[in-house]
Amino acid sequence: MKALTITPKVAGSVKLRDVPEPTLDQIPNNRGVLVRIVRVGLDGTDHEIYTGEYGAAPEGSDFLIMGHESFGVVEAVGSAVTDFAPGDFVVARVRRAGSSIYDQIDMPDFTTDEEYFEHGISRVHGFLTEKYVEDPRYLIKIPPGLKDVAVLLEPTSIIEKGIAQAYEIQRRLKVWRPQRAAVLGTGSVGLLAIAGLRNRGLDVFGFARHEPPYLNSELIEALGAHYVSTNQKSMADVGKEQGGFDLVFEASGFSPLVFEAMHELLDKNGVLILSSVTGGSREIEIPSDAINLEFVLGNKVMVGTVNANREHFEAGVSDMALLEATAPGWLLRLITDRIHGLDDWPTAYEKLGSEGAIKVVVEISPAP
Ligand code: BGC
Ligand code: ZN
Repeated sequence: MKALTITPKVAGSVKLRDVPEPTLDQIPNNRGVLVRIVRVGLDGTDHEIYTGEYGAAPEGSDFLIMGHESFGVVEAVGSAVTDFAPGDFVVARVRRAGSSIYDQIDMPDFTTDEEYFEHGISRVHGFLTEKYVEDPRYLIKIPPGLKDVAVLLEPTSIIEKGIAQAYEIQRRLKVWRPQRAAVLGTGSVGLLAIAGLRNRGLDVFGFARHEPPYLNSELIEALGAHYVSTNQKSMADVGKEQGGFDLVFEASGFSPLVFEAMHELLDKNGVLILSSVTGGSREIEIPSDAINLEFVLGNKVMVGTVNANREHFEAGVSDMALLEATAPGWLLRLITDRIHGLDDWPTAYEKLGSEGAIKVVVEISPAP
């Protein structure tokens, strides 16, 4: 079968290869689930892997099969599998257990291991291929009504984990009734964060540079949230106007905004969630005394979040279903570019970096 591969950290080494088909017995104790991949989404991490900045091959392999945002259909199951059957729609979790205590309790997203295992990213092959075989514990069942948008579940799981962290931390306050949220960055993660926060009843402001109207600002307004172009209005002005934000979700990929948000947006007792993977080496000057003082006197929290575990994928399924009920068709509009077939991968990666693209997906086999 075909697979799109790269020699990690080597720019220009992407190539389509022929690899052996996976078999059910790859998973011990007859617990294999064979999945036919329907489509795969791409994000900034895929772009970094593509350009040779990030990623690692599985041990003993000199290449990595790329792609971590999957959607597929079960084709066959081992005799010990009771919770999945052929025809079921599934999305695979991205991270696999390493060896820390968190890995042992099925929370590999909190691993303390130096090296982590992530499909299509780090040391485990990904999904830009035709089939995979997996243990059911790493699969999430998708209700048929979400089959057209379920390729967005993995990025949704990322925002679910971030939001869950905020609520978990804010239990320190005994009563936390967040009213206002700010989301920095309006790419796919930012948009999904806005949707998740609207689902929870918050008044949400999405910040990006681009001047409205354009698709992203329209999508935000379609949910009853507000779009702010930082070309037109500064964070400081919005912060003053609104009287501060209870929750800020950073998903812009531009680390200086973190410090601006700490200083200009976050309200007393507020929580700032950081989700951008910034592989660069940018340095800036910040008003450190002021920021520190505001954090201390305001009991503020900042928390980093990466990856997601089963409960966040499940929360994602619920949130996507709620969105389909309240804003039908909204999720589908996030898929701006569809590439047909693995052979056309150069177009997929070209689209990935291009203006106007929100989610680029590669269609691999016929959609159910
Ligand atoms: C993926 C996460 C992963 C992170 C760091 C993101 O693009 O969606 O699952 O943990 O990259 O590798
Ligand atoms: Zn990702």
